[in-house]
Amino acid sequence: MKADWARLADPRKVSKEEGDRLAVTLPALAWMAYSIHGDEMSGADASLAMAYHLAASIDPEVINLLANLVVIIDPLMNPDGRDRFLAMQAQNRTVQPSVDDQSLLHSGMWPWGRMNHYLFDMNRDWIFATQPETRGRLRAVNEWNPHYFMESHEMGPQDTFLFMPGREAINPNQPDNVRKWELEFAKDQAATFDARGWRYYTGEWSDDWYPGYSSSWSALRGAVANLYEQAGIGTDAVRRPEGTLESYREAVHKQLVSSMANLTFLAKNRQAVLNDFLNEKRKCVGPQASIPARTFAIPRSPNGARNHRFLDVLSLQGFEIYEAGGAFTAPAKDRLGLQTNEMKFPAGTWLVPTRQPLARLLNAMLEFDPHTIPQFLTDERRDLLRFGRTRIYDITGWSLPMLFDVQTFEIPAGVPPDAQAKAVSFPVTIASPVTNIEASVALVIDGADDASVAAAGRLMERGVWVRVGDKPFQFDNHDFARGSVVITRKDNANFTADLTATVSNVCADLNLTAVGVRSGYGPGDLPDIGGEHFVLLRPPHIAILGREPIEPYSYGSAWHLIDHVLGLRASYLDTHNLQGTDLRRYNVLVIPDGESAEGLKDRMEALKAWATAGGTLVAIGSSAATLARETNGIGGTRQLSDILGKMDDYRQAVVREWEALQTKPDPEKVWSFSPPAEVVYPWLIGESDDKAKDEELKRKDSWRAIFMPAGALLAGRVDDRSWLTAGCGEYVPVIYSGKTVLSAPPTVQAPVRLGVFSPAPAKKLAKPASSSGAKSKDKKKDDKKKDETKTPPGWTIAPPGYEMRLRMSGLLWPEAADRLANAAYVTRESVGSGQLILFASDPTFRAAALGTSRIFANAIICGPGMGANEPIKP
Ligand SMILES: [Zn+2]
Repeated sequence: MKADWARLADPRKVSKEEGDRLAVTLPALAWMAYSIHGDEMSGADASLAMAYHLAASIDPEVINLLANLVVIIDPLMNPDGRDRFLAMQAQNRTVQPSVDDQSLLHSGMWPWGRMNHYLFDMNRDWIFATQPETRGRLRAVNEWNPHYFMESHEMGPQDTFLFMPGREAINPNQPDNVRKWELEFAKDQAATFDARGWRYYTGEWSDDWYPGYSSSWSALRGAVANLYEQAGIGTDAVRRPEGTLESYREAVHKQLVSSMANLTFLAKNRQAVLNDFLNEKRKCVGPQASIPARTFAIPRSPNGARNHRFLDVLSLQGFEIYEAGGAFTAPAKDRLGLQTNEMKFPAGTWLVPTRQPLARLLNAMLEFDPHTIPQFLTDERRDLLRFGRTRIYDITGWSLPMLFDVQTFEIPAGVPPDAQAKAVSFPVTIASPVTNIEASVALVIDGADDASVAAAGRLMERGVWVRVGDKPFQFDNHDFARGSVVITRKDNANFTADLTATVSNVCADLNLTAVGVRSGYGPGDLPDIGGEHFVLLRPPHIAILGREPIEPYSYGSAWHLIDHVLGLRASYLDTHNLQGTDLRRYNVLVIPDGESAEGLKDRMEALKAWATAGGTLVAIGSSAATLARETNGIGGTRQLSDILGKMDDYRQAVVREWEALQTKPDPEKVWSFSPPAEVVYPWLIGESDDKAKDEELKRKDSWRAIFMPAGALLAGRVDDRSWLTAGCGEYVPVIYSGKTVLSAPPTVQAPVRLGVFSPAPAKKLAKPASSSGAKSKDKKKDDKKKDETKTPPGWTIAPPGYEMRLRMSGLLWPEAADRLANAAYVTRESVGSGQLILFASDPTFRAAALGTSRIFANAIICGPGMGANEPIKP
């Protein structure tokens, strides 16, 4: 039967008649999944009652139901979270009844029971599959191809019961059959609740924009989806405002009644549901396919770890992937939205066409820039202005090529025939861990690969001295990227174990190759092995602050990266005990995001003293904002809102960085014996906002602040002279949320700033050039002047001839764009012998922000050697 369901899900595998016949004869497959949030317990308990009822009942209704359906029950999606919450309940158990939902017995404690072991919300992980629970589930769902998919939750204890359908914003890829049947199921479920006098609702806060929830993800696979949200009754009962008690038993009962009602309704409508499922698949693939054909093209990059992560998640989702057998040319759009008519792609480019059975999911995961319906923008803006709150339940931008930072192009057609595409399957083979073993000078691991940073960390843990190249270099005719790890035999003269074997083991674990080199001579201007460009790293001793007021998600994703991905030892500290903690044991301290990191204020002197003595202090989001303060802060980085009247200095830093990147001095002017008649300044002069009164500036900024993004993808331009950005391309997509806007003065480095400069479209440039005749020179000058005065050089400055591209995907209001343009995403500055590294938004977001995770990994592993100054131990 599994094979038949698979054929129903792929119309290429059956004739039309056979497909139609299967839709009539096959039972429908219902997937009932409970309690992905461990402290939302009633669903898991209801699932056991349902399993018993379905297995034991001799009721004709149940027998009829089972004749029409196969029911798969995933009774408890999050055992770790449930265990944690049950332990909290045991610890807070009282003899006297406790029906106050604010009491610890009901509420639990940091980090609560919602998330899994590493504190990930698994109900956001379906598109990224970073957690083992999700990975197992994806394989199982792909094997069974469900037609109905229910996820059960709990919400606030004073709430009632919610089910599907959701309200706008709805992901534009959601199939029509899903929407149609969600409404039918809702009517039936409402009648079931009405019959018992139970209160319920649909929509309201429940949107369907982000595709990584259980129900949204399964709907994009074609299953009719449902979501239950029952009032959360931790245990016993909860007192309601009208004085009644809602008991835990009632919570379980509502989950059970809902489950049975939905299954009965599905059994009754089996044929129609299956027929619509098949017709939806026929729109995606096969001779009747009607969805627009397009292909995502991914040229191979030297970042093996990144390629692997990306292709792994695509293949785990069940997408069909091809590889170009030859070079080919096609029109293409890049991730910044820039079009090229004849883009050349090399052989080996990976190709993912959308016309395949999982077309909708594939589109939702990979497409660059989905838009909501216009009405949603109106509603959202009204809510922001009227109530200061957003209607968006989760993030608005998640496109995997951006979040994973994998260079990807969209071709507006199927796979080009020239590409000679052939299907590929994963995983791909592992390369040899060490080549050219006999080489006497050094072993080098290419820094283009994200795993090279983990290798550096793991080697140092084993007592190996490593260096990192801060520029690209070439040894023995072999090119190595910035950030490459160099293990010289000379540095490791005292290493007692077998150096080559140690490097080989570490590389084998990380799927890396270390290349032996016989010479450290860099041809031409390229760095040589003994110069300043190969910096000796200091073994990092990492500590990370946790518990309140730290945000569990931010803590969890940093913990996961350090412990699970990088595979390094670290200490996990209690922020409240910071006062009594001997920080001298560590040379790297990470403060994850924390809304109320205000609590750090009275620890500031200790943190500053520690950093000054040589520590690398890394802070994220709100915690970064707390450190970026004029009074009681550390360093020179500031929050934008604090420097509104003094923007000139900060703007100057932006201009200097850009000039340093672009400068092309005119030798004639440089070697002139006379001073110039006029100095050309690289910034535009005009009516500056700064000259306005302080109150006006504050008024404007608080207006812009209303519209800050809830998780949009922005383009960050990369300073390739910073060791922090090793492994990044010219720009890095960053996921941005929260209120922190960092401003770096010229004394502070900003390795990543928001906004990428690209040449302005020809039309705009052509305007002054097309002005006629000999007077054009003066005219140009006049035009320029006019343009200057009309373009207020606010924070959104762009160099002449360029325009800024900032928003990549997701909702970014123009007001917020104006506030964020040119702001720093990462800052680095020296503090005494140590350094301060601030991230404006979470770099390790959901273990899926791979571009910015690399910068974070560089910070914590290379930081003690690259940016801090540790003494030689005598
Ligand atoms: Zn939940």
